[in-house]
Amino acid sequence: MRRLTLAVLLLVGACSAGPPPSEVVPRTAAAPQPANASTVSAAPSSSAGAAPACDATASLRPGALPPANQMPDGSTMARIAQRGRLIAGVDQNTYLMGFRNSFTGEIEGFDVDVARQIAKAVFGDEKKVQFKVVTAAERIPMLQRGDVDVVVRTMTITCERLKDVAFSQVYYQAGQRVLVRRNSGVTGVEGLADKRVCVASGSTSLNNVVNRVKTTVSVPNWTDCLVMLQQGQTDAISTDDTILAGLAAQDPYTEVVGARFTDESYGVGVPKGQDDLVRFVNGVLERMRADGTWAAIYGRWLTPLGPAPAPPVARYRD
Ligand code: GLU
Repeated sequence: MRRLTLAVLLLVGACSAGPPPSEVVPRTAAAPQPANASTVSAAPSSSAGAAPACDATASLRPGALPPANQMPDGSTMARIAQRGRLIAGVDQNTYLMGFRNSFTGEIEGFDVDVARQIAKAVFGDEKKVQFKVVTAAERIPMLQRGDVDVVVRTMTITCERLKDVAFSQVYYQAGQRVLVRRNSGVTGVEGLADKRVCVASGSTSLNNVVNRVKTTVSVPNWTDCLVMLQQGQTDAISTDDTILAGLAAQDPYTEVVGARFTDESYGVGVPKGQDDLVRFVNGVLERMRADGTWAAIYGRWLTPLGPAPAPPVARYRD
């Protein structure tokens, strides 16, 4: 409060002591950038080199789902049940997928509902879940530290990531596209060769565009990219069509252009070595497909992307 008063006094002082309006010099300071924005010059390669090719989207076959509140003794699910809540890493910045509803303060979205279904399968109660907000770059470290039981956050299954974490079967099939200001003249990724493009650090989106555009700026959250686009600090944002649909819904002066130019198969991230939890989550996803829950959740959040497609077909490696 004291600080506010001081600020107001300084402002008033500045106004009364300043030059008359006709002599006011136009403000030329550049708009501030989001915290931790940085320019990326080339695709970052991991120290261990590129991951060997793998059948990334083939997961572990589920057995019969145990009834809620009857998790097998000694299982990862029994440990979660013992704690009394599932801990799920989700986003709070991605409208439609994982975002904070500013009226209720609740975190909502497609990914959030998937996490709630996992909680419901363990406890018979979809409210028994604690959400931890996680950026794209924090997903793998949080799983590796055991800070969360699962990550449900627009996370593409890749061979590179499978070196560090495990994944469920594919629960959503997204693809990368481009968001620009309306009437920009850009009609797809091919038009970005001489442009500045914003991406989130730690995302597959970054690697997918960094060698195809003039400048790549990385920021912690996709909403940071939207601010940079609005301030004219970037020419485009490129990421999954799910995320872009949420950004476009928040800013009618933007539009999604061009076709999908990658496949982004979303999986639920699980700490490596917890095969029982991977099979359990796959059982939950199978049930969601079969009983119409998947389609209902799609209908609740993702109709801006068009009518519900058939859910992805499960693939297993065992
Ligand atoms: N699906 C992409 C990924 O897993 C982008 C998602 C995101 O950054 O939230 O990296």
